[in-house]
Amino acid sequence: MSADDQPRSVSQTEQYEQCAWRWYLSRIERVKKRPAAWSCHGTAFHTAAEAWERSSRTLRVDEVAEIFRDQYTELVNSALEEEPDTNRWLAAGRYSGGEDIERRYSLGLEQTRAYVEWSKAARPDIWTTPADEPGLELSFMVELGGVMVRGFIDQVLDEGNGSVRVRDLKTGSMKSKFQLQTYSVAVRKLWGLPVDKADWYLARDGRLSRPVKVGTVTEEEIGQRYADMDAGVKRGDFPAAPGFSCQFCDVSHRCIFSSQKT
Ligand code: SF4
Repeated sequence: MSADDQPRSVSQTEQYEQCAWRWYLSRIERVKKRPAAWSCHGTAFHTAAEAWERSSRTLRVDEVAEIFRDQYTELVNSALEEEPDTNRWLAAGRYSGGEDIERRYSLGLEQTRAYVEWSKAARPDIWTTPADEPGLELSFMVELGGVMVRGFIDQVLDEGNGSVRVRDLKTGSMKSKFQLQTYSVAVRKLWGLPVDKADWYLARDGRLSRPVKVGTVTEEEIGQRYADMDAGVKRGDFPAAPGFSCQFCDVSHRCIFSSQKT
């Protein structure tokens, strides 16, 4: 399947909008990406939180922490095999790549334990799909703006009044309203359910964000962003946008426009 025919996603679209040249280097040139501990941290946290919820909250907190530990270690080790020089790993702020790996191990364990405690107290009401699946890591593929869009929704909650709420679990600080809007429109389209609110569970703070109103977001306005991105890719339009985001760019080592020294 060529890049022209692939389904799109929230991250692809936002990446294209932020710097289309990065999209080109990643997906057309297939430049080998520099690893980042934050990515292993995010994936391992999601796996642990999902396992906890799927167990109907019967696992012990140390068992959930162990799931984080095992997955984080496996992901980091696998990335180290690809890139053993941790100075070449992406790292945010004052930490080196190696320091970030160490620090996120402890941080992720702490956040996993905090999620379990929060969930025990808040008891989020996980929605059940018509196929009797819990609303956890739900995969979807829908047409938006004439473009096939795919994604995974971390959690869909039953609001108790016939509507549901979409929730995204965040270990980082970058929050995407477009992501919540896309997921809300997808849930409406796939299951015909009203979605008025969406939110983020913020692992950094161990709490929920304020709800985001998504009840008035239309399929047309969300679909337009996918249509614009898809048309840009098909035109071969990949302008570079060097700036702040270069420091988080996993292909900056191969970018002649980068504002970063690598
Ligand atoms: S380094 Fe900057 S300009 Fe280059 S691809 Fe990455 S984000 Fe774009």
